[in-house]
Amino acid sequence: PVVTRFAPSPTGYLHIGGARTALFNWLYARGRGGKFLLRIEDTDRARSTPEATEAILKGLTWLGLDWDGEPVSQFERKDRHAEVAREMLANGTAYKCFSTQDEIEAFREAAKAEGRSTLFQSPWRDADPASYPDAPYVLRLKAPRDGQTVIQDAVQGDVTFRNDQLDDMVLLRSDGTPTYMHAVVVDDHDMGVTHIIRGDDHLTNAARQIQIYHAMGWDVPVFAHIPLIHGTDGKKLSKRHGAVGLHEYAALGYPAAAMRNYLARLGWSHGDNELFDDAQALEWFDLGGIGKAPARLDFKKLEHVSGFHIARMENDALLAEIDAFRAETEAPALTSIQKERLLPALDALKAKAKTLPALLEQGHFALIERPVELDEKSLAALDSVSRGILGELTAALQNVSWSRDDLEASAKAIGDAHGLGLGKIAAPLRAALAGRSSTPSVFEMMLALGRDETLARLQDQLG
Ligand code: GLU
Repeated sequence: PVVTRFAPSPTGYLHIGGARTALFNWLYARGRGGKFLLRIEDTDRARSTPEATEAILKGLTWLGLDWDGEPVSQFERKDRHAEVAREMLANGTAYKCFSTQDEIEAFREAAKAEGRSTLFQSPWRDADPASYPDAPYVLRLKAPRDGQTVIQDAVQGDVTFRNDQLDDMVLLRSDGTPTYMHAVVVDDHDMGVTHIIRGDDHLTNAARQIQIYHAMGWDVPVFAHIPLIHGTDGKKLSKRHGAVGLHEYAALGYPAAAMRNYLARLGWSHGDNELFDDAQALEWFDLGGIGKAPARLDFKKLEHVSGFHIARMENDALLAEIDAFRAETEAPALTSIQKERLLPALDALKAKAKTLPALLEQGHFALIERPVELDEKSLAALDSVSRGILGELTAALQNVSWSRDDLEASAKAIGDAHGLGLGKIAAPLRAALAGRSSTPSVFEMMLALGRDETLARLQDQLG
């Protein structure tokens, strides 16, 4: 069975690149009935914070990526990491190295002066234990000196490193704490990880990690090193390209379903399919579809993807997304009366909106209370002639059934009586109902508001 993992370092918020890595691992596992695990790589005690862990879990939850079991803390497993290093010492694949920092420095200086490789070669590698001093030591991997280490990468193909260019890395420091490289391998092995999908900034690490797997006689997982995400200009992603934290996208009002679709397409493709739902992504996602070139952020495309998902979302799900969005931006939650008025107009609203705030802008009429505040254009639309017409309409509306056909017929009849088209009647009506000009159709609003609220808003303008 497939087991994947996401292994963030809790030193900040969930980066969009990290979110994409998590999504790929989630899709790969969930699409195959496998497990998706979470490991918090919190061994850097100075930089790791509980707040960052919280932020990462919150981001994953918002994105809808559920993980199996409890998140694993790497730091809490330090005894196990040490235990494995000692096993390696026992089986001869690791050794005690007593070289001091000064000695290592001196080695490098000399090597440099003589034009040799500056990779440290410990004099303790083959030393007789009888000669060991009573001094602090680190445990180093007794890495192969000859031959090559090959990463059979599902994305990058075979990547070969000459062993004489990889030094005997430290596994356990002199204070008994594991190095990052060693901890990752022990954790991935113990967690039963079968596929490691991560950023290609970890490609060189993979060569070193494979050496540890070999030393322990453990199965090497499948590696898939994915190209990093670049900004719109093709350069390494940074703050100046715009939003880089997943929470920023949530605050901009992109629904999580749209972010899943968009992030899946950042570096992975399936034919010409751009717009898809989770079921399709889960069915289609595979490592072969991951490209070798860095994907570029494309905000236009994101808008397009977002519009697609908003339009096809069930109304209940959409209201839940709106709740999450309001919470993210610390806006008050919609009241039940606001939701009640918004709901009948949702089909019309969601067909047009690209983001949740854009939808709420258009749906503003449903969120406001009387007396409706009028913007300048709306004030101008309510001149005395228009008010006269609005008065007639108000009178006529007392007696019509509140159906779209009847509402339209009433408006049309009054327009005909004055030799005015529907647009001319709609303008003051829209002003009275919404106080602004960018709204759904006036009939859509009247239906959503209902008879009492509609008539009351009209009455307010008649004085
Ligand atoms: N903690 C590493 C990072 O955040 C990930 C290491 C891994 O996936 O093996 O970049």
